Amino acid sequence: MTRVYNFSAGPAVLPEDVLKQAQSEMLDWRGSGMSVMEMSHRGKEFIAIAEKAEADLRELLAIPSNYKVLFLQGGGTGQFASVPLNLLRGKRSADYINTGEWSKKAIKEAKKFGGVNVAATSESANFTTVPPRSEWKLDPDAAYVHYVSNETIGGVQFQSTPDVGNIPLVTDMSSDILSRPVDVSKYGLIYAGAQKNFGPSGLVLVIVREDLLGHALPNTPTVLDYAQQAENGSMLNTPPTYAWYIAGLVFEWLKRKGGLKAMAEINEHKTKKIYDFIDASGGFYKNPVDRPYRSWMNIPFTLKSETLDEDFLKGAKTAKLLQLKGHRSVGGMRASIYNAMPEAGIDALITYMKEFMKAKG
Ligand SMILES: *Cc1c(COP(=O)(O)O)cnc(C)c1O
Repeated sequence: MTRVYNFSAGPAVLPEDVLKQAQSEMLDWRGSGMSVMEMSHRGKEFIAIAEKAEADLRELLAIPSNYKVLFLQGGGTGQFASVPLNLLRGKRSADYINTGEWSKKAIKEAKKFGGVNVAATSESANFTTVPPRSEWKLDPDAAYVHYVSNETIGGVQFQSTPDVGNIPLVTDMSSDILSRPVDVSKYGLIYAGAQKNFGPSGLVLVIVREDLLGHALPNTPTVLDYAQQAENGSMLNTPPTYAWYIAGLVFEWLKRKGGLKAMAEINEHKTKKIYDFIDASGGFYKNPVDRPYRSWMNIPFTLKSETLDEDFLKGAKTAKLLQLKGHRSVGGMRASIYNAMPEAGIDALITYMKEFMKAKG
């Protein structure tokens, strides 16, 4: 068996310990005589798995008791619709901050259900930065303010939670949730697809303040209605059971690693190594993002010349460094280095980048 270093943006690398545990429990989950995949979601075994996952997540993120945690389907993209359907609450419009590709998709979808006020955008800077908070034109009557905490494609990340006063703050945390501590109480709602930083695809997490529930638009599909999902423990219909189980194993792994404070230290260290190397490469490698907003999770970079891209990727593959090709919308390279990417993977990447530069520089 050969494992590679997988720099994919998502579905992405999972902790090897988690995969091994899932393997050992695959045919017979703890004496049940069956795989988690085969269990009824209403049976006591799966209920225990689901409850443990939620309890561990609550502990990791210190989620206050007046927040519901939902394990749903439809991905981050589904939430682009669910958020306005549930949170417009009779208001005319919501504020959106546009920092890149995922922001744009959220905005486009929200427009189907209500008004959208783009309160700030970094489009004129080609989405390489976050617009300063002082320049946001928030509507005091907005239903909520939405932003994407980490733009997975552009590699732009908010480094702190913006203050928007009393308007509920909503964030798409798909690609940086659980990478460091966050004060959940500052948010009305946080959502995150699992396949970037904590699980397999097919699962999306929603953390929502209870007072925001119960005001969905009348024609909201039942499975998208947070209040109904909350009332039914996310089991209004069959949930993505196996993905939920694997996410639970990842939460246990994060606790064993020392929780989110420890993850933040590890991630900051891993991230700094790559950026420092890129910045010291004399322009052979470049990251376009405004330094204070460089992502800890997704690092896009270009080579001195586009004509080197193919060779770079070919050599990387030989060195067992995979999925480094940048998103089709921006080109170049992208190294996604989520929680589960070991530091040895970062070191191997830097070693390869050094060698490549020596050969072609
Ligand atoms: C990947 C991603 C999404 C979309 O997730 P799907 O589960 O594919 O719908 C949304 N937002 C961000 C920030 C992402 O990285």
